[in-house]
Amino acid sequence: MALHKATDHKQVDDTTDLFAGTVATSVAAKNRMPENASRPEAVYQLLHNELLLDGNASQNLATFCTTWSEDQVHRLMNECLDKNMIDKDEYPQTAEIESRCVNILADLWNAPAGATAMGCSTTGSSEAAMLGGLALKWRWRHKRLAEGKPADKPNIVAGPVQICWDKFARYFDVEIRQVPLEPGATGLRPHQLADYVDENTIGVVAILGVTFTCDFEPVKELSAELDRIQAETGLDIPIHVDAASGGFIAPFLYPELVWDFRVERVASINASGHKYGMAPLGVGWVVWREPELLPEELIFRVNYLGGDMPTFALNFSRPGGEVIAQYYLFQRLGKQGYREVYEACAATARYLGEQIASMGPFELLYDGRGALPAISYKLKDPENAGFTLYDLTDQLRMRGWQVPSYPLPANRQETVIQRILIRHGIGRDEISLLADDIHRALHRLTAGTPAVLPDDVSRIGFHH
Ligand SMILES: *Cc1c(COP(=O)(O)O)cnc(C)c1O
Repeated sequence: MALHKATDHKQVDDTTDLFAGTVATSVAAKNRMPENASRPEAVYQLLHNELLLDGNASQNLATFCTTWSEDQVHRLMNECLDKNMIDKDEYPQTAEIESRCVNILADLWNAPAGATAMGCSTTGSSEAAMLGGLALKWRWRHKRLAEGKPADKPNIVAGPVQICWDKFARYFDVEIRQVPLEPGATGLRPHQLADYVDENTIGVVAILGVTFTCDFEPVKELSAELDRIQAETGLDIPIHVDAASGGFIAPFLYPELVWDFRVERVASINASGHKYGMAPLGVGWVVWREPELLPEELIFRVNYLGGDMPTFALNFSRPGGEVIAQYYLFQRLGKQGYREVYEACAATARYLGEQIASMGPFELLYDGRGALPAISYKLKDPENAGFTLYDLTDQLRMRGWQVPSYPLPANRQETVIQRILIRHGIGRDEISLLADDIHRALHRLTAGTPAVLPDDVSRIGFHH
């Protein structure tokens, strides 16, 4: 028997309620293009409702990426829907704004070349890392060939990297030498380097904001160790800093921390504009300390406005709105604004860290002090806790919170951790509600009943 749709015998026109029309009263064919067109508002509403299943971005405490923007950012993004970043000819002002952003970052990261520093926007830190890695590989090859030595076995040395460096290594045929985490360590340690670098090392990647633990690797100390290795062996190995998250935190929260181009060995830096840069998803940055560090063969030149515009990118067409939004944020917030936002985020992270530490079963791995506005923690005694962090993830998910659990990388895989990131758009009150929910979840997991928090007593009340 065929099911009759409510609208089968009805005339659908502009006055028909969205939820009385065909789109709302039938199950959409999902993997096949429909034969006919539908009303835009109806299809919009259908998709709007479906997307609610993704969960609520402001409760996603797993991502580093922007989940909240001011209205002006939404408006600019809308106005820039037609801007193609690659068409420097057609959109010269967008190109101009991109290069202003590069100059701002070069200055923020203390590039000695100042406004002549070389850099570009990308789709994110992953593409930026590929470009940084390619420049390292080309420079190493030039040097090897000039010395009459083979250049067929390049390697790159790093601690617990984000997957983009594994991709770089595989896609561009470079061996990745991943230095395992030492017990108790949250990143690469200088004394580990000597066992991993050699004449085929194109560079060392130092991470400002280790994905797993949120910590900053000690760029200056890693560089000092490479100085020592150079004095001993003659090997002159450059550093690329993957500052995907930390590149927009360190200059504002830790201006004294020397991690950027003030360290002479740092050849290039990448950062994600769409993480702590606060821009909407789809923009990253890479900057070289000086133009000479970017080999000419990697640069393609396009003529625009009678000028000569160098481009270095894996993509061709891509949206320009994110770059405009990034520039808006630089102008809108200034250094003071970025500092204030991240001071507030960091204070909220420390607040949550204190709450988590006082609950009993957790041990903080990172307490929100000295690096990203975030915390990470593990169970003190996983064997006897009576629950796993994965169970806690599930409990929190019931209230909409996204707090994933995952094992640490190489050599410490037995340790499972949770990580909570505090970003622009997440307030203290929201985090206090999360802390209450963690309390309740713990009680449920260990005692099997929902906890009554001191605050709850008044809420439940004993009204007669
Ligand atoms: C997020 C991240 C990346 C990848 O950045 P995307 O902007 O998502 O491409 C690379 N490295 C580190 C350390 C990261 O945190």
